[in-house]
Amino acid sequence: MGKILVFVEFNHGQLKRSSLELLSAAQSSGQTVVAAAVGSLAEGISKEASQYGATDIYVIKETTFDKYNPELFTLGLTEIIKKSEASLVLATASALGKDLFPRVAARLDAGILSDCIELKISGDNVTAKRPIYSGKCFSKVTFENCPIKIVLMRPNQLPISVPNASATTNVIAHSVNAPSLRTLIKEVVKGTSEKLDLTEANIIVSGGRGMKEAGNFKFLEQLADVLGATVGASRAVVDAGWVTHDLQVGQTGKTVAPSLYIAVGISGAIQHLAGMSGSKVIVAINTDANAPIFQKATYGIVGDFADVLPKLTEEFKRAMA
Ligand SMILES: Cc1cc2nc3c(=O)[nH]c(=O)nc-3n(C[C@H](O)[C@H](O)[C@H](O)COP(=O)(O)OP(=O)(O)OC[C@H]3O[C@@H](n4cnc5c(N)ncnc54)[C@H](O)[C@@H]3O)c2cc1C
Repeated sequence: MGKILVFVEFNHGQLKRSSLELLSAAQSSGQTVVAAAVGSLAEGISKEASQYGATDIYVIKETTFDKYNPELFTLGLTEIIKKSEASLVLATASALGKDLFPRVAARLDAGILSDCIELKISGDNVTAKRPIYSGKCFSKVTFENCPIKIVLMRPNQLPISVPNASATTNVIAHSVNAPSLRTLIKEVVKGTSEKLDLTEANIIVSGGRGMKEAGNFKFLEQLADVLGATVGASRAVVDAGWVTHDLQVGQTGKTVAPSLYIAVGISGAIQHLAGMSGSKVIVAINTDANAPIFQKATYGIVGDFADVLPKLTEEFKRAMA
């Protein structure tokens, strides 16, 4: 029986939803599951990892692992993967995952599939589905002649299993003999938003050029507050300077797959769809009944945002109370 190592990411002492999805997928394959976490708080998530099937958790607790450094993380993860003897490594296709794991794959001479949206593990056979050409097509991919396989999954694609409250895990501390690093992260300046990052949000309320001006984003924020959602945007409004680039959804922005995506005043250009067409339910609000976004939408409202958004916000407020 093979062994699967899941590289887990966490926030405020809790595993990210995307890591729970990976642990659940690994567990449901019936293979042995181990986890790896890094940073001075890594050990704190071992209990939660065990509840989703990790029998062992490799932790690097050194404070140098609190901030992402590609050289250091590559060394640490390469060592842990070798030590664990895992034949399959699962990680999130997050900004960190997409930067780190191609480096790890090169060190280990491993095969790597990035940005996957479906995953099937059957014994040694691993197949995945990936969007190509900005989501216009999909490819089904598998590995050949790879003793070590690495799969990076997009968040919000896999179900989460029921946690086993009585499970325990064996914590294996690993220390890294850090080489003299060529780069050093001196400081991380956090954005001002307290909201969940777009890539992790379960509900997104997104605005486009049809919002007319930056000040009108307050209508989106009011609806987002009621729904517990994160605000996103099209590139047109980012280019106009109404919002910052970290809110941009699309080919040159973030790829998201929330349960609910509300697109307001967004026409539905292919480059925008590339970043959000994996959303489970899409609601479009647009004055133009022929806007392409309606072809992708589960529900559509033809109307002016200034009429529709305050009414929607009031209705949701009432319904959620
Ligand atoms: C290489 C490349 C990469 C790109 N990457 C991205 C990307 O990552 N993300 C992205 O979004 N775009 C990207 N674009 C740009 C993309 O092609 C579109 O130009 C952009 O998505 C359009 O944004 P929009 O829908 O907000 O604006 P528009 O296309 O101008 O649409 C505005 C919509 O608002 C509607 N509207 C107008 N008034 C109202 C009202 N009062 N109430 C409701 N609706 C109203 C209109 O009917 C219209 O459908 C990229 C383009 C290129 C070439």
